[in-house]
Amino acid sequence: ASVFSKVPQGPPAILGITEAFKADSNPKKINLGVGAYRDDAGKPYVLPSVKTAEQQVLDASLNKEYAGITGVSDFTKAAALLAYGPDSTPLKEDRIAITQSISGTGALRIGGAFLERFFPNDKTIYIPTPSWANHKAVFSDSGLKVEQYRYYNKETIGLDFDGMVEDIKKMPKGSMVLLHACAHNPTGVDPTEEQWRAISDAMKEGEHFPFFDMAYQGFASGDTNKDAFALRHFIKEGHLVCLAQSFAKNMGLYGERVGAFSVVCASPEEKKRVDSQIKIIVRPLYSNPPVHGARIASAILNDSLLNGQWLGEVKGMADRIIKMRALLKENLKKSGSKRDWSHITNQIGMFAYTGLDAKQMETLAKEHSVYATKDGRISVAGITTDNVGRLAEAMHKVAG
Ligand code: PMP
Repeated sequence: ASVFSKVPQGPPAILGITEAFKADSNPKKINLGVGAYRDDAGKPYVLPSVKTAEQQVLDASLNKEYAGITGVSDFTKAAALLAYGPDSTPLKEDRIAITQSISGTGALRIGGAFLERFFPNDKTIYIPTPSWANHKAVFSDSGLKVEQYRYYNKETIGLDFDGMVEDIKKMPKGSMVLLHACAHNPTGVDPTEEQWRAISDAMKEGEHFPFFDMAYQGFASGDTNKDAFALRHFIKEGHLVCLAQSFAKNMGLYGERVGAFSVVCASPEEKKRVDSQIKIIVRPLYSNPPVHGARIASAILNDSLLNGQWLGEVKGMADRIIKMRALLKENLKKSGSKRDWSHITNQIGMFAYTGLDAKQMETLAKEHSVYATKDGRISVAGITTDNVGRLAEAMHKVAG
């Protein structure tokens, strides 16, 4: 018998939605499952700034030698600047250790491994309920225990702020807490700036350690500074933090796998030690990261003209999504729905949490050829001026 004859069949991944969508013969079918931006024609979008940057990279005809273990340094320097901002004290004091990573997922994975090895307290990380479906797997595979804190309030389809703060206060002193920096996935529900201040205070009181996952900087509001508010506020308040960055969404570099993991340290000397340990973690994982996508991102971040163009394009993507939220709400009203759909425009980022339950989502797929995850999450990026009317009618029929 094969040595693998006892390997059990695993459950199907999220991509099951795409398969069901493909198998549907309805020409008006709508796929709201994928977590990737689509233009108003429903097509994948390569940013013009990315095309220009890629051409520059090709024209420079660089060699294909290995990058260092921590990647393309022009890229990581610029990535840190984008996240922490030019006025960042730890950046000025040269106490942020940073490495390139295999997009946001890889950043979280390096972070998980680093914390498993060096976090001095209990090795449990608290993630929100709900959270991005991969968080639990990434952190458990890193050897951390995963617990959850309250985040989403089903009744209000909004933030359970009191529950969240209460849970943070109940955690053992010095716990690790994963925070979505902006555009919470899957709910699209973010704390307000005032609420972030209170969360920072509660975290400080408990001497907890924040790990920010920032997969959507710029993509949420259209403004990279505004979307970095939470991270920068925590830093101002003196928190030392970990940060996972992704350039999948804000540069549309999904398959190029461009990201960064960083640690804000107490001193340049501590940064050096942390940096040496990050290298020790990365080396046996994948030795060193791919260079092509990082060179593209670096060209965009380091050239002021291209950078300006990119910021405009990020805003264009964010604005289209914000517009589709408004259109969906408007069309729901037009279709006769008496429900309060204001959460659709209150939420932010790629996803909207509709408040529809698993059964209603199933009906949406079976009877209306509208495909999305059964937790009621729809990808607003999949909505277009062309399909929004039909989508609203279907949602209204299903929601009653
Ligand atoms: N964190 C969150 C919250 C996400 O939504 C995603 C993308 N879906 C990621 C991290 C990582 O994505 P990637 O590895 O493609 O950068």
